[in-house]
Amino acid sequence: MANSKFEYVKNFEQSDNLLPNTWVVVRIDGRGFTKFSTKYGFEKPNDKRALELMNAAARAVMAELPDITIAYGVSDEYSFVFHKTCSLFERRSSKLVSTIVSTFTAYYVHLWSTHFPETPLSPPLPSFDGRAVCYPTVTNLRDYMSWRQVDCHINNLYNTTFWALIQLGGVHATEAENALKGTYAADKNEILFSRFGINYNNEPEMYKKGSVVFRDYELVEPGTHDTATEADNLAEPVPQSKTQTENDKKRRAKARIVVEHLDIIKDEFWDRRPWLLS
Ligand code: ATP
Ligand code: ATP
Ligand code: MG
Ligand code: MG
Ligand code: MG
Ligand code: MG
Ligand code: MG
Repeated sequence: MANSKFEYVKNFEQSDNLLPNTWVVVRIDGRGFTKFSTKYGFEKPNDKRALELMNAAARAVMAELPDITIAYGVSDEYSFVFHKTCSLFERRSSKLVSTIVSTFTAYYVHLWSTHFPETPLSPPLPSFDGRAVCYPTVTNLRDYMSWRQVDCHINNLYNTTFWALIQLGGVHATEAENALKGTYAADKNEILFSRFGINYNNEPEMYKKGSVVFRDYELVEPGTHDTATEADNLAEPVPQSKTQTENDKKRRAKARIVVEHLDIIKDEFWDRRPWLLS
């Protein structure tokens, strides 16, 4: 661009490069989806179509951004994890967040009609907010993922019981709320089972566990892979050859992106897919 006397304004821009060598999580969340879900008649507590639309949009985001390692979604939110070595947009937070938010929103709107063929979208249209957070260690990152999945479980057990009381028990919302005040998980399981014959364990996995999106390679059999030793972790990383990096890139581009509803709190999920965090 040609120089001009106006160009100094560029200096007002603040740098927002995220800390190097950390796992970057971009979490997006639907804006005002309590209202939005009412407007489009989402089934309570879980509208399958709406969740599958979120998953389809997340999968499209991952296909467009190979730097994303894994994503986790529940309700109107999705967390996208960028590998700690990612250098996309020089790790500028605003660029990463805005690209994810707009790509996700674009696909959400684009794919709406395949998931809600009978209800066309009309303004106010769906929109999402987003933020980026850096996690320095794999433990911190896994704790983040566990936090979201625990949240999914707690909310879903509550919502399932709350809506059973209303839809099957015929009570009003305030009455249902009071009935659940101070109850523990076991109490809610008991209410579901004894009053409505619902075994919470038999609820769909997507509702209980949320959705995990990742690139699928060959699974590692439990107990057969080498666990990195303390010394390995302290050693300098072995530099990869250019072809190796390129091959990895190609492999990543070709890998199938899958949506599963698995436990990501326990070690097994990660142990069997060592490529996710390596
Ligand atoms: P904010 O803009 O602050 O995020 P919000 O209304 O979106 O406000 P959230 O805490 O994000 O508040 O809650 C999401 C809301 O959307 C919940 O009320 C939830 O019941 C509803 N919702 C999202 N997805 C579904 C779904 N698949 N089925 C039914 N309801 C859903
Ligand atoms: P980046 O992702 O870094 O923004 P970019 O290719 O979008 O890459 P920009 O600097 O944003 O690069 O430039 C926008 C490009 O889009 C320019 O090449 C410009 O010519 C083209 N473009 C944008 N709007 C129009 C338009 N209305 N008509 C023709 N070309 C356009
Ligand atoms: Mg431009
Ligand atoms: Mg919010
Ligand atoms: Mg929301
Ligand atoms: Mg939310
Ligand atoms: Mg541009």
